[in-house]
Amino acid sequence: MSEFDLIRRYFTRATPGALLGVGDDAALLQASAGNVLAVSSDMLVCGTHFLPNADPFMLGHKTLAVNLSDMAAMGAAPRWATLAIALPFVQGKETSHECPHPNPLDETTSHSTRLQTTAAKSLVTPAGEGTNESLRELMFTVDEAWLAQFSAGFFALAQQHGVELVGGDTTRGPLNLCVTIFGEVPAQQALRRSGAQVGDEIWVSGCLGDAALALAHLQGRILLNATEFAACTAALHQPQPRVALGLVLRGIANSAIDISDGLLADLGHILEASQVGAEIEFDALPVSAVLRERLTPLNPPLSGGKPNSSPDKTTSHSTRPSKDDDQVAGYDKGRPGGVELLKQCILCGGDDYELCFTAPAARHAELLNIAARLDLPLACIGKVVAGRGCIVHDASGNPLNIEACGYDHFR
Ligand SMILES: [Mg+2]
Repeated sequence: MSEFDLIRRYFTRATPGALLGVGDDAALLQASAGNVLAVSSDMLVCGTHFLPNADPFMLGHKTLAVNLSDMAAMGAAPRWATLAIALPFVQGKETSHECPHPNPLDETTSHSTRLQTTAAKSLVTPAGEGTNESLRELMFTVDEAWLAQFSAGFFALAQQHGVELVGGDTTRGPLNLCVTIFGEVPAQQALRRSGAQVGDEIWVSGCLGDAALALAHLQGRILLNATEFAACTAALHQPQPRVALGLVLRGIANSAIDISDGLLADLGHILEASQVGAEIEFDALPVSAVLRERLTPLNPPLSGGKPNSSPDKTTSHSTRPSKDDDQVAGYDKGRPGGVELLKQCILCGGDDYELCFTAPAARHAELLNIAARLDLPLACIGKVVAGRGCIVHDASGNPLNIEACGYDHFR
């Protein structure tokens, strides 16, 4: 298949919103009256941003989703996108619906089972190979079944948000996906990082940490049971860009950013750009039931007991149901996957693609109404203060040691 056939078959759809779409040397785009263009690029590289055996449908979704998230953070309405893609393409491979090397990483995702075509087979790490080495060195291939699924995932999300693919480039090479997205927003209403005011409340949409938790499981840094992993994996593979929220926040939020690198890092960008500081309440951070459960002390020590003493069913005050071993380990601070890792996922994990924004306290009730209207939880997690830096308080009001989770943004 030629490059042109490939583009025609998998990446060409009608573009009624463009003056000129795919097929010429450049697309021609016109912002609506009163709007300016918001433009952003985001690249996903195999082995860095996703695993070689990533489900192609979900990868198509995520490739666009991370870009839509940047539009949401600007309060821009997404309109068009271009896609530059390097493909390790193999022609004429026979298709099969069996996977000879079942991938343990995929076994809990029902979606991937449905998509185990030749493409998935060719992308699966051969059984027994070291994962790290495979990630770096495995030169895998994609085929038409892979392309069809990738394209389906991409366009399903594009259609949902009214985004038209108006151009791009394809080349042969290690799998690399780069989208440039174009949105529109009235210039004075764009949500910037630099507008936070002392006294603003700090808000976060959705939940934090699930994507990082799922990734930690895939990397063997924590052991989730099947139910827990199933609950977290969508956040990692199919993030939902908060486009509708971004649009509603025009005229309400003083500043906004999407959380791609972790709450503290991305909030840090707002604080730096706005030259202000922040105080955050850890217990106010929105987390899923999985993280909430794991963060809750399983068997609180008796008063006066050693803080790190082993859970002892005979002396525990806990009335919670007994847990299996890996969940006990999940609360053991001294072992991998302990509470420090959970905090790290929530505060610094990344890949959340939620919005973090600041707004005057006077808009608090209005924002709760917006949350109800959009059916999207919004959590007020702290406030903007004079000065510099970010302090995260624990339940007792003491500052958490956030350097312990690798955070050195303000050093
Ligand atoms: Mg961003």
